[in-house]
Amino acid sequence: MPRGSTDVLVVGAGLAGLHTAAQLARRGHDVVLVDRRRRLTEAIRTTGIFVRRTLEDYDLPEDCLGPPIRRMVLHPPSHRDPVDLVSTRDEFRVGDMPRLYARLHQQALDAGARVLLGMRRAGLDAAGRQVLRRVSAGDGSGGSTSGGDGEELPAELRLDARFLVGADGARSQVARDLGLDRNRHLLIGAETVGAVADVGQMPAFRCVVDPRIAPGYLAWAVDDGVHSHVGTAGRSDRFTGGVRAALERFAAEAPGPHGRPAAETLEHRAGPIPVGGLLRRIGAPGGLLVGDAAGAVSPLTAGGLDPCLRLSDHAVELLDEALSTGDRRVLRGYDGAALRRRFRGRLALRQGLESLRGPAAAEAAFLGLRSAPGVRPPGGSSSATGPSRIRDRPAGDRRGRGLSPARPPASGRRRRRPPDRPESAR
Ligand SMILES: Cc1cc2nc3c(=O)[nH]c(=O)nc-3n(C[C@H](O)[C@H](O)[C@H](O)COP(=O)(O)OP(=O)(O)OC[C@H]3O[C@@H](n4cnc5c(N)ncnc54)[C@H](O)[C@@H]3O)c2cc1C
Repeated sequence: MPRGSTDVLVVGAGLAGLHTAAQLARRGHDVVLVDRRRRLTEAIRTTGIFVRRTLEDYDLPEDCLGPPIRRMVLHPPSHRDPVDLVSTRDEFRVGDMPRLYARLHQQALDAGARVLLGMRRAGLDAAGRQVLRRVSAGDGSGGSTSGGDGEELPAELRLDARFLVGADGARSQVARDLGLDRNRHLLIGAETVGAVADVGQMPAFRCVVDPRIAPGYLAWAVDDGVHSHVGTAGRSDRFTGGVRAALERFAAEAPGPHGRPAAETLEHRAGPIPVGGLLRRIGAPGGLLVGDAAGAVSPLTAGGLDPCLRLSDHAVELLDEALSTGDRRVLRGYDGAALRRRFRGRLALRQGLESLRGPAAAEAAFLGLRSAPGVRPPGGSSSATGPSRIRDRPAGDRRGRGLSPARPPASGRRRRRPPDRPESAR
């Protein structure tokens, strides 16, 4: 049974919450991690595409990652003359997310965090204690409620927490309770995951720019020879008939390897994606926000896995200092400025993507894309359909990105990217 007080209550056991809780526990702090899901292997809200930048900087378990992907293909609505890019390096790997969440859950427990699943943070009581309520059996999430040690939890728990961390996703309740900023610009995304047999074709990440199936964003089809992910995302007010109907239309014609039998559907995933850029007020003396709750998602690509790890590292540094010194004011330094700077140019590009209101506009945008620098086909002709190269950034463009930790990383981890390394696409 969990004790009635803790140093830090982390709400939400997605990637941001799991990473934050494990790092804080490794530094010797008392941490409670709570999630309303009974099993972290269910109700997943991500495709799980990790970019090179993350793969190089974080020790993600090898057996939780699919084969490397070097090829990216951008399709216009007509699917004619797509822009085909092949890198000399491994650019993406798709995470086996149920396995990865299970592994990170175990790592948090091993580090000493108390993990309460099937418990929802309901708010604060009159004495300022955190109120956690067991999720009722009829809510569809299944499984049993357990607290790491397998013990059954009571229907309600009240907890004194010195600090609160909101890792509770795009529609964060913790943000509201701490008086912090909340996400206003959200896309809605949905995908199906299927198992495929490896037929020896080059794994590829395909994106389709078509406002009819992905209004204001992109549809994607990823096939790494193990799993296929077919999904779409866009502005909910612009989907005709809803995101599910758009996904079904897209799935019926999604680009991919010819002659391959359709993948058996294993799973459906869906969720909101904050794309307004990192929020301004994400820290207060009582706690802070990480991951989607803080808007830590690239506004252009809607990639949130890399930013959520980096912002969590930054949060851990400041919480560690506040807990060690007793000085809550250090949390005022938590603003994610480096990440916000990184997102600035992408916000402008996403406005460009949103302005494509019909297939003709998207086709016209591809005319420019095919002749863009860095999208040169081998023969030099911008109209060729053969693979071209994802060009490395010129040396002069290698400005620093991300939130590198102030402390040296714990032993056994790879060194984080120094500030002058290039950033990757997502
Ligand atoms: C369809 C889709 C595909 C995506 N694909 C990619 C991708 O391929 N690559 C990429 O980089 N990004 C992708 N993203 C974005 C990325 O997945 C997210 O940015 C990232 O997973 C956010 O992690 P998080 O931990 O902040 O939030 P989440 O993973 O949403 O976790 C929040 C957790 O909080 C819990 N919670 C919420 N409220 C409470 C409460 N009151 N009490 C207890 N628990 C609570 C929820 O149950 C949940 O487990 C995708 C998003 C979507 C929707």
